[in-house]
Amino acid sequence: MTSKSLETLIRRHFDEELKEAPQGHRERSERCPPLWRFVEASRGGWKPAEQAHVSGCGYCQKTLAQQWRYRHPSLWELALYGLGRSANEVAMKRHLEQDRCPRCRGLLESRPLSRALELARTGERELERLEGWLRGVAISSGELAYSGNFAETEQARFEIRGESPDGSLRATLRQSVANVLEAEIESPDAQQAGRRVGVEVLRRDAEPLVAQPVLDSDADGCFAVHEFGPIGDYARSLDNCTLAVYWFTG
Ligand SMILES: [Zn+2]
Ligand SMILES: [Zn+2]
Repeated sequence: MTSKSLETLIRRHFDEELKEAPQGHRERSERCPPLWRFVEASRGGWKPAEQAHVSGCGYCQKTLAQQWRYRHPSLWELALYGLGRSANEVAMKRHLEQDRCPRCRGLLESRPLSRALELARTGERELERLEGWLRGVAISSGELAYSGNFAETEQARFEIRGESPDGSLRATLRQSVANVLEAEIESPDAQQAGRRVGVEVLRRDAEPLVAQPVLDSDADGCFAVHEFGPIGDYARSLDNCTLAVYWFTG
């Protein structure tokens, strides 16, 4: 999605919400950054002066939450919220509690992230190390449209892909040609062969699917495939799922 189309989407939805805004909703002020800055900041972050305003402005927090409906907050942003240190707490509350984003709620409650946050909370892991680890997590979310018969060849196969922000991990969750649900993990770095990665498929109303495959080297770096079994066994629980793949730290 281009910045332009993202901005159009945000603007459209924001205008609609404003029509129904409760009395006393704070209007946009002179100091509120333009919408394109929200789009830019979702990749490059805010300047300190902007962040200071955005943190305390009801309008800007609402705009941010609107934007997160189309492009989710980063894992680092989620982690800061989990640690009670988010600069955008109002927007994050809105995203998690009002919009009830299943992806971000699932990630925040997931075992690997809650454990990482616990280590940061107790001081066993420094914040910079946590941030570095989070940059190596590949996430993807999507829906499996279940039509009742996975053997039908004309049906589009389920596949979601994600890449970690630092590019060290690529992960795919897919329906194989044999109708097996499988996760494929790749790393461009051949040095990572022999390392174990954590795979979690977060599902709504069901326990996560968990695997810990070891990477093997191949021509392009290294990879691993884990088969969870016949996709029909999981169909209904994958209607809104999130794949998270991460490095185990030493
Ligand atoms: Zn503002
Ligand atoms: Zn989200």
